[in-house]
Amino acid sequence: MEQVIKWHSEAIGKKVVAALGKNHFSAEYAAGKADALARALAAIPAGSSIGLGGSVSKDEIGLTAALKERGGQIFDPHAPNLTREESLAMRRRGLIADVFVTGSNAVTLDGQLINIDGTGNRVAALAFGPGKVVIIVGVNKIVPDVHTGLKRIKTLAGPANNKRLKLSNPCAATGLCMDCDSPARICNITTITHKRPRQSDVHIIVVGEPLGY
Ligand code: SF4
Repeated sequence: MEQVIKWHSEAIGKKVVAALGKNHFSAEYAAGKADALARALAAIPAGSSIGLGGSVSKDEIGLTAALKERGGQIFDPHAPNLTREESLAMRRRGLIADVFVTGSNAVTLDGQLINIDGTGNRVAALAFGPGKVVIIVGVNKIVPDVHTGLKRIKTLAGPANNKRLKLSNPCAATGLCMDCDSPARICNITTITHKRPRQSDVHIIVVGEPLGY
């Protein structure tokens, strides 16, 4: 069974890598977490200033910890014990870092990235600003089309991230998006990156394992 899942992950993962390439992104397939970590570290030059976007996937492959261990200037708005102002400053500085590291809420079989953001710094960085953007995305984020990707975010990623962040938005109780009006809503900006933005350098590592939500 495990071999069959591995085969399927590789088959669709490599299909998405090819589709991303057609959309002018640079992309590569990593068989598992360790492979993904090695490829991500190779894609991020030592000594780069690094902005971190909210992403469970980058944490799950060990990238956040490895980057912090490697040292250098890291702008992490989610670092413990930051004041609101300090966290905001990290988000701003991350936008013009040498490299911005994040995940994607979904990626379509034809190579489009779908993201919903609450603050906006993550999707802003994906559009323009940092010298390079490195995205870690597990095979569980692959969807047939944009419609399914948006639905996936509303039925899974949104509620799960609310639960993870311990927010009191209604989806954290129901498990489904209630299209809330809460000031703490995390779904304020939706972006569909059809193709690589003209002035950006975006590198995507598609990992043959489920990562994040
Ligand atoms: S819009 Fe509100 S209820 Fe829906 S997923 Fe986002 S935070 Fe949750």
